[in-house]
Amino acid sequence: MSSVSDKVVIITGASSGIGEATARQLGQLGARLVLGARRLDRLQAICKDIETAGGQAICQATDVRRRADVKALADLALAHYGQMDVLINNAGLMPVSFLDELKVEEWEQMIDVNIKGVLYGIAAVLPQMRKQHSGHIINIASVAGHRVLPTYSVYSGTKFAVRAISEGLRQESRGEIRSTIISPGLTKTELLDHITDAQAADQMRKIFEVAINADAIARAIVYAIEQPDDVDVNEIVVRPTQQER
Ligand code: NDP
Repeated sequence: MSSVSDKVVIITGASSGIGEATARQLGQLGARLVLGARRLDRLQAICKDIETAGGQAICQATDVRRRADVKALADLALAHYGQMDVLINNAGLMPVSFLDELKVEEWEQMIDVNIKGVLYGIAAVLPQMRKQHSGHIINIASVAGHRVLPTYSVYSGTKFAVRAISEGLRQESRGEIRSTIISPGLTKTELLDHITDAQAADQMRKIFEVAINADAIARAIVYAIEQPDDVDVNEIVVRPTQQER
């Protein structure tokens, strides 16, 4: 039995990419999963696959821009499984653009999903994790949370924020709650599909030619979860070997 077995793990943004790959790996290892995202049909298909393979997973339509949705997802974990061991705040968007394009609505979307969504996740699980005197919150940041490039200003800003929030959570954990930052580099997912700045999209497609599979990021997440309770993996950066910056 792995130490992941039977842990109740909530994942936001589980309908594709890193969230989906992580759900599938954790399902195989015996975790009890609660999956959220907006595309319920995709979530239901993933849950069905996990169950067919002998795992346990439930799902619920969740828009992380709505605090009530995120709370309802955490409440579902408690109602169905009686506990919540791990929250993976993974939902995120990356519609990068040059600031001159003034894509203010996209800036707001990134702030709402990438920062406020993470905070709503923390708010949804922290009181119960305090009651349990244990819990693990894993926030998906990015290599872009360590450095900025042209077109990345706002996206990087959100990911710097995620790293700061995670570190603050760690310092306030009172020895009970583990806080992990996962900072992926270029990873093959649906993340590029939402870029509307044509020049930025072209640039990204070229940069992403060396991208690695989402499974690699999922393995890093599993590593953090499977450590004993007294070991808190604070941050993992996973890049393609060919990614220079
Ligand atoms: P995907 O686009 O494949 O996945 C993003 C997930 O987020 C989807 O499941 C999507 O589901 C969900 N999501 C988006 N908006 C919302 C919302 N409002 N409410 C709930 N869920 C939402 O990309 P990735 O797998 O790459 O992204 C996962 C995380 O990894 C993000 O935080 C991203 O910033 C980060 N990351 C990715 C990198 C990469 O190279 N791919 C590199 C560094 C970090 P749905 O649309 O169904 O709601």
